[in-house]
Amino acid sequence: MKGIIYSGINNIYDVRFDGGQSAECRIKGKILKDNDSIKEYNPLAPGDYVEVDLTESESGKYGLILSRYPRKNRFARWNRKRESWQTVAANLDILFAVISVSSPPFRPRFVERVLIAAAQGGVPVSVIVNKIDQKMDDWAAERIKIWQDLGIPVLKVSALTGEGLEKLKKNILGKTAAFFGHSGVGKSTILNALIPGVNLKTDSVSSKYNRGRHVTNFGRIIDSPEGFRLVDTPGVREILVKDVELENLQRFFPEIYKFAESCRFNPCSHTHEPGCAVIQAVENGKINYDRYENYLRILDELEEDKRW
Ligand code: GDP
Ligand code: ZN
Repeated sequence: MKGIIYSGINNIYDVRFDGGQSAECRIKGKILKDNDSIKEYNPLAPGDYVEVDLTESESGKYGLILSRYPRKNRFARWNRKRESWQTVAANLDILFAVISVSSPPFRPRFVERVLIAAAQGGVPVSVIVNKIDQKMDDWAAERIKIWQDLGIPVLKVSALTGEGLEKLKKNILGKTAAFFGHSGVGKSTILNALIPGVNLKTDSVSSKYNRGRHVTNFGRIIDSPEGFRLVDTPGVREILVKDVELENLQRFFPEIYKFAESCRFNPCSHTHEPGCAVIQAVENGKINYDRYENYLRILDELEEDKRW
């Protein structure tokens, strides 16, 4: 029977089926046939479709997960400790990179790393700028405008006052949407505002098996009675860019890539080369310096990977 992973902890998954049935499931034999042949620490994520062998007993429904169906897309982050990709959510219609105007501080570079990871996994992405009830610095407004000029949708909201939430809701009706961002940017508050009473739900596997000793790094899906599905992801501190060829990084910064064709050398890393049109554009203020810095820093990390 085909079902969808809603949440999981300690290798026990909450799987839901058509018609609203659900069952606690385990992976058969602990090793899952990896349909996409992706090397991953945890083979399943919220949103994954799985084939399940269901057993019914008096105390409920239990299942064995036999295989995972191929994914439409996936949003994954690199797990530094395990040195492998970890899928945060699969089969998404949209991923929201959530950032706050302040407290925690506005961190556009983090968002740009999320944009890269989303593109790598084939996931459509938008930015949510939350806490717009707080004062926004000019440089932050400028950074937001650059994204918009590049065609990246940005939704400005305040989960506190409700501003922008109706528009957000219109964007996700009938869809599966995930929210990803630093702790404290307001993800839970947004989810609560979109699905009132969601915190009262205690029927998920996570709340049953997570006795507080393990910090779960598995997200969960929450259904709205209004016909959309939200994926709550665990808060993260960092996101690394991995598996991008050095010369391809600039493609994720379209305004840098645009100037690259005028560089004297090809390829050009835009770090030191004479006749570099990108460096010149940064100096002339045609490329935002903070964006360029982000490019340099990620390039540096990717180069370090190569040396190892
Ligand atoms: P999460 O870690 O991303 O889930 O963040 P939370 O939803 O727990 O929110 C962190 C803090 O920010 C809480 O104290 C919220 O009340 C506050 N917060 C959330 N949204 C807003 C907002 O739009 N404006 C303001 N001023 N505070 C907010
Ligand atoms: Zn150059």
